[in-house]
Amino acid sequence: ALPPLRVAITGGAGQIAYSLVFMIARGGVFGDRAVDLRLLDIEAASDKLRAVGMELQDVASPFVLRCTCTTDPLEAFMDADVALLVGARPRGPGMLRKDLLAANAGIFKAQGAVLDEVASRDCKVVVVGNPANTNALLCMRSAPSLPKRNFTALTRLDQNRTAGMLAAKIGVPVSMIRNAVIWGNHSATQVPMVTFATVEEGRAVETVAARLGEGGERWVSEELVPGVQQRGKEVIAARGASSAASAASAICDHIRDWVMGSDGRVVSMAVSSDGNPFGVREGLIFSFPVVIEAGGAWRFASGFTIDEATRSAIEATQSELLEEREAALAATA
Ligand code: NDP
Repeated sequence: ALPPLRVAITGGAGQIAYSLVFMIARGGVFGDRAVDLRLLDIEAASDKLRAVGMELQDVASPFVLRCTCTTDPLEAFMDADVALLVGARPRGPGMLRKDLLAANAGIFKAQGAVLDEVASRDCKVVVVGNPANTNALLCMRSAPSLPKRNFTALTRLDQNRTAGMLAAKIGVPVSMIRNAVIWGNHSATQVPMVTFATVEEGRAVETVAARLGEGGERWVSEELVPGVQQRGKEVIAARGASSAASAASAICDHIRDWVMGSDGRVVSMAVSSDGNPFGVREGLIFSFPVVIEAGGAWRFASGFTIDEATRSAIEATQSELLEEREAALAATA
């Protein structure tokens, strides 16, 4: 059997982790491989973190070889094969977007430096804490000895939301929807694209456009795209708290496909834009359609030509990311 994977999760006492940790404990995310979990949080959350550790022990999972709860990033990231960076400073009352950006840029810059020092040389990093793309960029830049390809931010929830809404509209199981993808920033400027999306039933492949029929294009631009962009807010309004279980589930999808391969499927991940064939500026962490080989090597997906309307939306999300980068770098210089 393969040795256990060392998996670090930050924000271990938070909402998302409260779902994520137990999804991982059920097994399957890493095949039948066991995990050596390290849950990190800040001192102020250490009681709550300890409680997560207790509950995890009480799950008695055969997939969890060990679980360490810690407030020391060195201990959490030591030899880590996977780092799920969920913890981030939430926006407090009266806090400006730029203060939030600066606070988080500092956290992720520091965590990148620790990863650089002690993590496995092939550590796969997934940033969830917002602003996720820019946090991932700061983390990557302070970990120069780790491959750039190993730094990603989560846009899988946005992709899953897109596929879920399409499936509900068309009236098919969501598993039949393929090639619905997300470009750009994990923010309201993100670009969900269903131009190449298909409904696949066994060997029968139909375009989503054909299944949506007349008025489909209008529904996509007027309902689907804003619906995906605003879905987080809609959940908060209905629940009084932000989405957490769906975010945790998307993290599991993201890391499972990255570690075990996406089985030929196209999936969305925010990755380094260096060398992308889509004309997006280099030096960003940007969501693209990618395909992942078993073993973890990802490549940009082919066949996703960009029409004019999508191009201008991609430019807007790119501008936002350039601004975030500038602000984050200035704040941490
Ligand atoms: P959550 O666990 O709900 O969220 C964590 C982060 O994920 C937030 O930045 C949140 O952004 C982001 N996020 C990304 N996508 C989603 C989504 N679809 N739905 C909801 N959130 C999303 O936050 P909590 O406040 O419950 O927990 C955060 C924990 O992190 C706390 O325990 C805190 O102590 C810890 N923390 C740890 C640090 C560390 O380990 N060094 C540093 C700072 C905090 P958004 O705010 O935009 O929703």
